Amino acid sequence: MSVSVDPERWRRLSALFDHAIELPPESRAQWLQEVCADDRDLRADLERMLAADASTNAFDQGIADILSRDVGKFDLGKSLADDEEGVLGDHAGPWLLERVLGRGGMGTVYAARRDDGDTLQRAALKRLHRRWDGSLQAQRFLQERRILAALSHPNIPRLLDHGLDAESRPWFALEYVDGGNLVDWADAHRLGLHARIELFRAVCAAVQHAHEHFVVHRDLKPANILVDEEGHPKVLDFGVAKRIDDTPGTTRTGVFAGFTPEYAAPEQITGGTISAATDVYALGVILYQLLAGQLPYRVDQDDLRATAETITSRTADRMDKALVTGDPEDVRARIAQRDTSPTAFRRFVRGDLTRIVQTALAKEPPRRYASVAAFSTDLRRFLEGRTVSVGGDTFAYHASKFVRRNRVATAVVAVFALALAGSAFYAFQRAHAEHQQRERAETTLAFMRDIFAANAPDNTDGAKLTAMQLLDRAGERIDGYFPNDPIAKAQLLGELGDVYQNLTLHDKSIPHLDRAVALLRTAHADHGELYAGRIEALGSAYLETYQYDRALRLVDRERPRLRGVVLHGEPADAILLSQRAWALSEIGRTEEAERDLHTAISLYEQAAATGTASYALLYNNLGHLQLGTGRPREALANFQKSYTLVRQSPDANKLQRLVSRFNVGLAYSRLGDYAHAIPILEEVVPQQEKLVGFASNRTMIARSQLAQAYSGNGEYDRALAVIERNLQAVAASGIQNPRDRIEIGLVKAKILNYALRSAEAAPLAREAANYLRDHPMEPSFERGRMQWIIGETWLQNGDCAAAEPALKTALSDALATSDNPANANAAEALDSLGRCRLLAHDLTGASDYFERAVAAMTTALGATHPRTLRCKLHRAWARMLATPDFAILHGMRADRDALAKAIGSEDKPMIWQADLLIDSLARDADAASGISTTRLSRARDGLITLGGSQSPRYMGLNSFS
Ligand code: ADP
Ligand code: MG
Repeated sequence: MSVSVDPERWRRLSALFDHAIELPPESRAQWLQEVCADDRDLRADLERMLAADASTNAFDQGIADILSRDVGKFDLGKSLADDEEGVLGDHAGPWLLERVLGRGGMGTVYAARRDDGDTLQRAALKRLHRRWDGSLQAQRFLQERRILAALSHPNIPRLLDHGLDAESRPWFALEYVDGGNLVDWADAHRLGLHARIELFRAVCAAVQHAHEHFVVHRDLKPANILVDEEGHPKVLDFGVAKRIDDTPGTTRTGVFAGFTPEYAAPEQITGGTISAATDVYALGVILYQLLAGQLPYRVDQDDLRATAETITSRTADRMDKALVTGDPEDVRARIAQRDTSPTAFRRFVRGDLTRIVQTALAKEPPRRYASVAAFSTDLRRFLEGRTVSVGGDTFAYHASKFVRRNRVATAVVAVFALALAGSAFYAFQRAHAEHQQRERAETTLAFMRDIFAANAPDNTDGAKLTAMQLLDRAGERIDGYFPNDPIAKAQLLGELGDVYQNLTLHDKSIPHLDRAVALLRTAHADHGELYAGRIEALGSAYLETYQYDRALRLVDRERPRLRGVVLHGEPADAILLSQRAWALSEIGRTEEAERDLHTAISLYEQAAATGTASYALLYNNLGHLQLGTGRPREALANFQKSYTLVRQSPDANKLQRLVSRFNVGLAYSRLGDYAHAIPILEEVVPQQEKLVGFASNRTMIARSQLAQAYSGNGEYDRALAVIERNLQAVAASGIQNPRDRIEIGLVKAKILNYALRSAEAAPLAREAANYLRDHPMEPSFERGRMQWIIGETWLQNGDCAAAEPALKTALSDALATSDNPANANAAEALDSLGRCRLLAHDLTGASDYFERAVAAMTTALGATHPRTLRCKLHRAWARMLATPDFAILHGMRADRDALAKAIGSEDKPMIWQADLLIDSLARDADAASGISTTRLSRARDGLITLGGSQSPRYMGLNSFS
């Protein structure tokens, strides 16, 4: 392009360019025609600029910037003497250049003053070393200006002006920040720890603002953050890409040429995906330094290889010690600068604050805060003395490890990560040829431009695309790209799969992950962390979608390949084993599942990974397995162990602790110990609501268990109220699995049955039965429970013919999914079948079932468990009808008393039912029941109140399950 533009012309050109760039490409010609009218030069210049721009710009200048950065930038770390530039006293537009503030490879920053009458206004003026010639450097300079123009935040210097100087060098002027860098300023002002965090949060706000505009800073460090005289920090150097001048002696070769290593995140070193999480990491380092006065790791500038290792594998030095480590003089100064004492400091940073910083500094980006905003919120909560989320990864009841935080935030961050995938720095390990990197970068860029193109046919009204549309588009179009670069394509597909998974859209996730895996295999990259991560994700997706056979095949195929691979600090084959255990337990191969979990536990121990949250999770899963096979006592022990581990594990978060706590409550509940269960569950539910949301799956499971504990305790109204909240939650959330609604409906049906409102339970059972008919499930613990409630509902409604097939399925599932035939679920189904036979006047059949029920319940839960006593009363009922005998009645009264004792109350529906049952059997046999009339009328009244009808229908004693 012609470079003989005068400043005025440049101004005009630049304004027009900024406008043109916002227009959809196909309407630009028309617009140019209009604005340029007969100024053909102007039009030609604009067209050239637009063409040049299209070759380097994506929807996000930040990306283009990264992509074009091959060696990246290098901070000279000193400002040059005033005379070196030899241009002081020069003008740039109306600005008089007074002093050099800093000099980089691309341009120089001056302190400037407005020289056209208003001499008071000051600015920091950045000027390119060369003329605007359409070169890459010039383009990047332009991009920085455009990024700054797009950002508008009190903690980012405002763009004041821009133009070309007399020698056609472009410049722009920024709001001048009169102050020092973040750390120096805080030290000089002897800022206390609270104030330091407040200051830091203002920095977070600026970075968050940039992220919301799809700009990742990538070079956050104290030198790029100035604090003005009023104490407002300002983040500088946004999206700046500078090349290192080819001056000998200034170029550091190797991987670090591109970063300031002290603040570089591991993925910047290993060539991972750069995303918003990269800035979270740098902010973590800055906060650490701001608080402790030292960097989290000691890095040796002269030994880059060692530095790389440190950053990628060493954990940070303990922050509470860092303050007092080092030269005694320095230590004294640090303490004085913080207006603190070693003890006060230690107390302040230990616990929550340390965990917050650790979360930001996590080696793996997904374990960090999902956004800078989340990081900052936790700091605010910390300052306010409230509980913090420290939400690195989340925790499911089984082995899943998906991010299910704020869905929108995750989606946006993930889309962004996606945009940057493949633009990674392929460092020494991968030794990709430079041109290949460039090719990959360009393809990614073209791909992203395609996805984000505002003029796509499916974006008819020109509205902003939703994150979901962008994702779907990416999936549809990726095949047009990366024909010869399977790894880059696999990475992108993997990212897409992850995003869908984070959104719990597993069905959409699987095909992408499948393809990523296949591509990596064709490229012979089917080992190592990248591959292991995809396999783990795929396995999880299968599990989440109930495809247990596929999960098993996957794990069995991949485990040998991944032996010895470490995935996010854990042995990959142990991770796969725990997935295997999950699948096995779901299809009833519980003994194998238990074996796998024990093997996984020892693999973690061998790998010294027992401090991890996943290790605690293994005990948790063991507990679930035992609970599922009717061994609540063993389960309780393992849940308690898991809870202890989770409380000690530094990488466990609040949610994990909460879930562990919940599981302890659950086990108590299954043991029939509602006195312990209810307070725990009552404490967990509101905290879950606060932490993961009213409608989250986990909150719903917790509520459902609370409802069942209330129900076991005979408090049916409370139970129903809790279930109602679950139904509201399901209705409120769009992306729930329909099975959730069915299952909650069944829990409600069960409680309605107990509350003697079985007519209301019938439609719910009908819906579930239809669902199971249309969506046949493999035999499983869940299916067994569902069928049991369905059968019990028909039974309570007096429909034995409908009840029996369901109850038989329930029984066979309970037997098939446990290696132990004497489990509580089987016993429960047997008991229901016995009452069914009673209803059909088949006393022999009934006695048979009850006999088996009592035996199984006794083995599973012990002779004095309320559920065993209930089965015994039912057995006596059948015997009494067959051959009335006073001894049987006598035994019933003893069991009834034992039951009241076991549940700690005389005034529970189950006792009322027992009283009335015994009395009516006694009457039929012309014998005295020995139950007082007061008790009998109390029982009758109680049941009438409960069922809201004068003659409540019930079929035996309510259960406790
Ligand atoms: P570089 O890419 O060269 O690092 P920066 O934008 O970081 O460019 O600017 C270099 C230096 O110039 C900064 O470290 C800071 O000292 C100074 N500087 C930059 N912008 C301003 C500003 N708005 N106010 C005051 N000083 C500034
Ligand atoms: Mg800088």
